[in-house]
Amino acid sequence: MNCPRCGKVMEEGLVQSTGHLAWVREPRRLLASLAEGDVRVARSIFGAATLPGYLCRACELVTIAYGEDDPT
Ligand SMILES: [Zn+2]
Repeated sequence: MNCPRCGKVMEEGLVQSTGHLAWVREPRRLLASLAEGDVRVARSIFGAATLPGYLCRACELVTIAYGEDDPT
């Protein structure tokens, strides 16, 4: 995958969290259930959420695609 900002090849890896990972419009305390408009990016299974991710060190940008299976 190429970086959408600079076009360089991004490093493939994993994005991990010790809890759920969600996209929200405004910062707030995340609860088990999400509000309308929220997107659950990764579900925490056994205390961790893991998704494939791509890193551009030059732009300090990480991209992830939600909806993909947990690779662990
Ligand atoms: Zn970049």
